[in-house]
Amino acid sequence: MRTEETEELRFSARGSKLVKRNRNNSVLFFLFLICLIILFSPAHILAMDTSHVKRVVDGDTLLLDNNRYVRYIGINAPEVQHGNEHAEPFGNEAKNYNARLVENREIYLVYGQERMDRHGRELAYVYTRENVFINKMMLDKGWAYCLFKPPNLRFYDVFLKAQHLAMQRQEGMWHGWETQSLKLLANKRSRRFHREACPFGVQTKKSNRILFSSLWEAFWEGYAPCKRCFPEGPFSVYTEK
Ligand SMILES: [Zn+2]
Repeated sequence: MRTEETEELRFSARGSKLVKRNRNNSVLFFLFLICLIILFSPAHILAMDTSHVKRVVDGDTLLLDNNRYVRYIGINAPEVQHGNEHAEPFGNEAKNYNARLVENREIYLVYGQERMDRHGRELAYVYTRENVFINKMMLDKGWAYCLFKPPNLRFYDVFLKAQHLAMQRQEGMWHGWETQSLKLLANKRSRRFHREACPFGVQTKKSNRILFSSLWEAFWEGYAPCKRCFPEGPFSVYTEK
């Protein structure tokens, strides 16, 4: 009797240990799953709150419900009409495409090193809930070009690669370009290009100068146009007949 009892006791003791170990294993497994989720979820989505887009302003700017303006980092889209200034070629197309992506939708904002521009707009990388990276998407579809602007350069290389693919595929505003030659003087430090006679371009230090012989070449190298010598945007060169 005694031995049977002890046997039973031992057995149940072992049994409860097994149950306990199993429970520990499931806790560990659960923690492991959480780690996996954290590792493979984009960090920005875990860390960020969503904002609701009231409307888009143009191809690189939007207005949130709380009346804050957000300017996309690292890209520039052709201007739309404002005040007495006409829309630049492709300005409305860029705006419409941006609206299709984000208008009336929830977005996540990720900030760069510099948080605001001089117009008081927030500078951000913008993602939809489905994790579409809007800054890059505008480049993918050829409705914006790269804008080099330190210190917010985190995705500059990624953006330029996206632009190259869009240029090769002739997406959006890259469609049907002729290899029209145009003498351009550019600044290697700021990565801006000018028409040959632009007073801003001429001020460029000799050691920072680089010459391009077409708009295509300047864009391909990741340079953006000076607003002063391309007041109607760079694409007017190709669209004026
Ligand atoms: Zn210029």
